[in-house]
Amino acid sequence: MAYTVSKLKEYSANALDKAAEKLLAALEKEAAEVKNESDWKGFRDRWMARKNGVLTQVNDLWLKAAPKDAKREAGQKVNELKQRVEQTIDAALERTKAGSGKSDAIDISLPGIQRSIGAEHPVIRTANEIVSVFRNLGYSVQEGPVVETDYYNFEALNFPPNHPARDTQDTLFIANQQSKPARDRLLLRTHTSPVQIRTMEKLKPPIRIVIPGKVHRNDPPDASHSPMFHQIEGLAVDTNITFGDLKGTLDHAMKALFGSSVKTHFRPSFFPFTEPSAEMMVSCFICGGSGKRGSEPCRPCKQTGWIEILGCGMVDPNVFEFVKDNGYDPKKVSGFAFGMGADRIALLKYGVDDIQLFFNGDVRFLRQFA
Ligand SMILES: [Zn+2]
Repeated sequence: MAYTVSKLKEYSANALDKAAEKLLAALEKEAAEVKNESDWKGFRDRWMARKNGVLTQVNDLWLKAAPKDAKREAGQKVNELKQRVEQTIDAALERTKAGSGKSDAIDISLPGIQRSIGAEHPVIRTANEIVSVFRNLGYSVQEGPVVETDYYNFEALNFPPNHPARDTQDTLFIANQQSKPARDRLLLRTHTSPVQIRTMEKLKPPIRIVIPGKVHRNDPPDASHSPMFHQIEGLAVDTNITFGDLKGTLDHAMKALFGSSVKTHFRPSFFPFTEPSAEMMVSCFICGGSGKRGSEPCRPCKQTGWIEILGCGMVDPNVFEFVKDNGYDPKKVSGFAFGMGADRIALLKYGVDDIQLFFNGDVRFLRQFA
């Protein structure tokens, strides 16, 4: 029960001392319960408030009510108590301040918070490695928009008007484009090849460029497909560029990327923007081309000893027709182009079996490459 001041029945020194003792015990007990500043304010008001504070009551009930001959002693006692109450209240405030100060204090001897330094994402690192191989051959880096027009993504790359690649099953189109002419309609580029046209519009031949970037296709995500992935494409245009230059360049690049012992192998293929076109395989850099890892079959090359790594070919003269005015007369210049998936090469290189792992953003997975 909270302490209340009661009238004194007698004013002997002993009775005054006893009453004072009781009051001080209550004061100490309440002071000990003060934990913060708002506790402290309540405590202070209970004891010091002019109207009905404990000290005021003491003044009224003990001092004013004292008989004349006891006034002097009662007055001394009340003054003494007043001082003790004030001191205790001040001390309680100091304690709450020191207490809150303690939790905010900085212990300079503690080790600092370590912020981990970021690292290149494995796909970006792979892309940078590929780019640097070509930079060392004198290629410059070109980039272009991810949101493209049909013209740059398809038409100028010699895709005929009804080519199935334009189907919405393959290509992600920006909505509400129907009122525009077909060639102006926007889409998420399905390859980095539009940058070939954009660069040839800007720069006169000879050119040697490498084009890294994000591309999108309408593929549902699974272990080997992602609606977003990364391509690296290359283009070289000059007079007298031959298929031999293409083979020599790519053979060198593969040796620089996967080791000097890898072999390359070309087989015919088709792309609208190259003629002739080829797919290039490299001898499996995981099993060394044997198709086996010890007694186990080599999965990445499906036991064939070869891994399909890129598409390539000689630039179709029809493509040059679109940039003929900037010096790309198909009768005077020739060139080769190639493109590969950075994600796929990263999967092979790091032995990862699910492309989704690259894009889920799980730090536990990504940290392994840091
Ligand atoms: Zn293999």
